Amino acid sequence: MTWSRRIPIVSIAVVASSLALGAAWGETPDIAAPKSDGAKCARDKFRVVLDVGHTTDAPGASSARGVDEYVFNLRLAKVIDQKMIDAGFNKTVLMVTGGPGNKSMYERVGRANGLSPDLLLSIHHDSVPDKFKEKWEYDGKPAVFSDQFSGHSIFVSDNNVHLQESLLFGHLLGEQLKSRGMQYTPHYTKSFMGRYQRQLLDADAGVYRYDTLFVLKKSQMPAVLLEAGSIVNRDEELLMASPERQLQISAAVIDAVDAFCVAQSTRQPQVAQSARRMTQVARSVLRHRPNQTAAAAAPITKMGQSGLDAH
Ligand SMILES: [Zn+2]
Repeated sequence: MTWSRRIPIVSIAVVASSLALGAAWGETPDIAAPKSDGAKCARDKFRVVLDVGHTTDAPGASSARGVDEYVFNLRLAKVIDQKMIDAGFNKTVLMVTGGPGNKSMYERVGRANGLSPDLLLSIHHDSVPDKFKEKWEYDGKPAVFSDQFSGHSIFVSDNNVHLQESLLFGHLLGEQLKSRGMQYTPHYTKSFMGRYQRQLLDADAGVYRYDTLFVLKKSQMPAVLLEAGSIVNRDEELLMASPERQLQISAAVIDAVDAFCVAQSTRQPQVAQSARRMTQVARSVLRHRPNQTAAAAAPITKMGQSGLDAH
């Protein structure tokens, strides 16, 4: 993510009371991993678009050692792509876009929609707001870092037309990452994040709500954005650069995609019902806070006009 270029999308009032929703999720998101009952995913027919976050012209965040986020995104997405194809997901598309931020956002969404995939996964690496960054020197050059936060995070948009499915895949991905010892970062729920505070929709799997992320809200298929880890954290940057961690994440993605594919292809009542309930809980809480709904809706228009979010 690129912190300095973001537009505030949710007011503090929205976020503060949305924490209640997070708590509600903590009690009710009993969305079990799909029970396949022998059902299998037709991997050669299931298309996933792996969206490489940012471009060479607009490379996103900078790591603690001064490496562009885009470099991390491309490297990880390439590993996931290869492992997906090795695992039989032959229709996987690695989507690399170019150009400046605004132009690339429209291009990536247009291309994704043109491919009519079953799922879009956007790959990013995280940073922190500038106020948390500290100065240091790396390789004889001035740089900035923040070791305060670590861990991945998963985002979905309420504006995506396939919110239920997006939530389901986000849940499955979060569970698979957790089962491999990776923990999501809870710091997006904290008030000190100010305008960057996010609503935690699925406290078990680490799925946050970020409605105006362009690539999520404009894509016409289930869409999830993964911040794979914080590259402004000095230890985690090294971890994210390691082939071992990239393979771990790839394995988690493949297992989550497979489970999602099974759920989609069999339309399992249990899974569909759970996903529907997750959506209903979120929407009913917001409905009972009309000021939130209005406040949340307003910046969406602003976002659409400005188009400054680099995602
Ligand atoms: Zn990013």
